[in-house]
Amino acid sequence: MGVPVLDLTRQYASIREEVEGAIREVFETQHFILGQNGASLEKECAAHLGAAHAVWCASGTDAILLGLRALGLRRGEGVLTTSFTFFATAGAIHNAGGYPFFADVDPDTYNLDPKAVKRFLEHECAPGDDGLPVHKVTGRTIRVLMPVHIYGLCADMDALNDLARKHGLKVLEDACQAYGAAYKGRRAGTLGHLGAFSFFPTKNLGGSGDGGLMTAGDAALADHLRMLRVHGSKERYMHDEIGYNSRLDELQAAVLRVKLPRVDGWNAQRAEVAQCYHEGLDGLAQVVTPSASAGFVHIYHQYVIRAERRDELKAFLQERGVGSMIYYPVPLHQQTCFRFLGYRDGDLPHAEKAARQVLALPVFAELRREEVDEACAGIRAFYSGSR
Ligand SMILES: *Cc1c(COP(=O)(O)O)cnc(C)c1O
Repeated sequence: MGVPVLDLTRQYASIREEVEGAIREVFETQHFILGQNGASLEKECAAHLGAAHAVWCASGTDAILLGLRALGLRRGEGVLTTSFTFFATAGAIHNAGGYPFFADVDPDTYNLDPKAVKRFLEHECAPGDDGLPVHKVTGRTIRVLMPVHIYGLCADMDALNDLARKHGLKVLEDACQAYGAAYKGRRAGTLGHLGAFSFFPTKNLGGSGDGGLMTAGDAALADHLRMLRVHGSKERYMHDEIGYNSRLDELQAAVLRVKLPRVDGWNAQRAEVAQCYHEGLDGLAQVVTPSASAGFVHIYHQYVIRAERRDELKAFLQERGVGSMIYYPVPLHQQTCFRFLGYRDGDLPHAEKAARQVLALPVFAELRREEVDEACAGIRAFYSGSR
């Protein structure tokens, strides 16, 4: 039996009629941009997440980019984030005019480690004239702290928010993998000043193309985001600042509105799949399974194990028809395009080690019990040497 790493056709089969009806309605109106579906989606997401404001945009990458602009990031200023994430996290920092700084991750959660953040802010930086930390080597002011809720598990936000408050930093949550995840009773995207979400089709709340969302607690911030996404304009043909064309179209919004009421159920099914893996892999010495501490609701956007001889295991599973993926094989501080930042191998040991050991197993709401068992059997067979 083959086990796909992700099969979106199963989800589609369960909502086909509603999706097709919603799409047909948009075509009947021929109103594709800036319409009722987008406006309603914002209200529905805000209510669902418990955010004061939600603002759509064209992608998760844009959500970060516009978010950083709205938080007042100035050209050349630093954003402190994790190196163990999807490329867009740091790509958006650069494209917003900022300069990425990386702190290491917690080896248990793969999320930004508050201890590493503290070390960076208190040892590698000194307070500048306006109180913000200034990086001692580059002389750059750090304005934003950007944790990423990697794999659908929130970062340790109390500790990170405390550090941000102490050092005058704004906090942007890259929640692109964490729609619906929660931390101490609050949802991802409501834990900092601003949240960024992606509706890329393979995300746990995915559209039928690109899409993104920003959440904000502050009305002025939300207004600014709404302006930035339409070329910096509030009144048509009047431009107060230079913004972007970053729109979520009505077709995407219509599809997402069908999916939104189901996302908590799907996330719960993901957690059930995770539970099956926990049990199926229990006691296997060569594998570390993911876990969430009390107070965290992990939505398992990915189910990622740490595995001995990871690359061999992946190839072995592939031969048996069991899909798996490596998120992410190269941390961002080791990417060619970021060499100019001056990081060296060994600078972020936990991120580098994770990149060598992590393996994402198939996980989606419709994945069947016997498929999880098949994946677990493959992993056990590999380590027992019975090939
Ligand atoms: C997917 C993702 C993004 C980018 O989202 P897009 O919608 O693809 O632009 C950013 N950060 C993280 C952590 C992601 O997983």
